[in-house]
Amino acid sequence: MFALPSPIQAVVFRDQPVFVKRDDLLHPWLNGNKARKLQAYLQHDFPGVDTLVSYGGNQSNAMLALAGLARLRGWRFLYYGKPLPRTLQTHPSGNLQAALAQGMTYIAVQTFDFTNFPGNVLYVPQGGASRWAEPGIAVLAQEIQEFARLMRLAELGVIVASGTGTTAFFLHRHLKASGIHVFTVPCVGDSAYLRQQFSQLAETSGEHPKQAAYPHLLESEKTYHFGHLYAEFWHLWQALKAQTGIEFDLLYDPLAWQVLLQQRHILPAHLLYLHCGGISGNESMLKRYARFCTMLSS
Ligand SMILES: *Cc1c(COP(=O)(O)O)cnc(C)c1O
Repeated sequence: MFALPSPIQAVVFRDQPVFVKRDDLLHPWLNGNKARKLQAYLQHDFPGVDTLVSYGGNQSNAMLALAGLARLRGWRFLYYGKPLPRTLQTHPSGNLQAALAQGMTYIAVQTFDFTNFPGNVLYVPQGGASRWAEPGIAVLAQEIQEFARLMRLAELGVIVASGTGTTAFFLHRHLKASGIHVFTVPCVGDSAYLRQQFSQLAETSGEHPKQAAYPHLLESEKTYHFGHLYAEFWHLWQALKAQTGIEFDLLYDPLAWQVLLQQRHILPAHLLYLHCGGISGNESMLKRYARFCTMLSS
């Protein structure tokens, strides 16, 4: 299904050598950490299931990945989200447009509070935050471990941006025995939210929250709000593209890279940055940044 293992590229950014794990290259429309989190749903047998149900934001990367999954499995895909703004209703763009093109049905609701689903429905929680994410991320951990072994990297730290924290949590669980540490930057909520996510993930995957091992949290010196635009993010994203030749995501990656650079002195000797995909979402972000930059310069 996916081109595994994903390649690892050595780059230098602002004098810092960093390995980049290119999970954005896994598949044309089902890639990044969403592909890893959904891998088990691709491989497992679901007798009687013909419909996939999930909910979340109307430009979410997870939404597009789920649309890809449903298409590959031949399932109907019902996605619940807040009522769409008028412009998106008449002119869908970005991830919404791409997911609709894959056959997704968007159902507008004020709140999503379904708990019981008929037997033909497979329900995936928002952002794929469930124990089902673990097998695919375990494969990713193996690939990183194998790389560290081949390259004889004694001290390796993995940096990953967190939304729900699912990727960082399971990656840490599967890497900790090999001495590879996972560092994560909370991008969607604050550190308290992310810690709460971690203990919930520990619980749902059969671990006592007090005994579980958690990824290291890296905090930004300044507070940022998810989905908002910042001049420093724009400049960093552009510099990354110019210096490394890699296009990163515009929502999570600028903050994660910024914190990586700020906290470089407390991180291990060698660093591997996990590229979680999300490039398809850049289309709508680039339009917003174009307006934002005109506003800044006027
Ligand atoms: C979804 C996503 C994340 C966050 O992943 P979680 O497992 O929810 O923490 C980070 N970066 C990108 C580009 C994403 O699309």
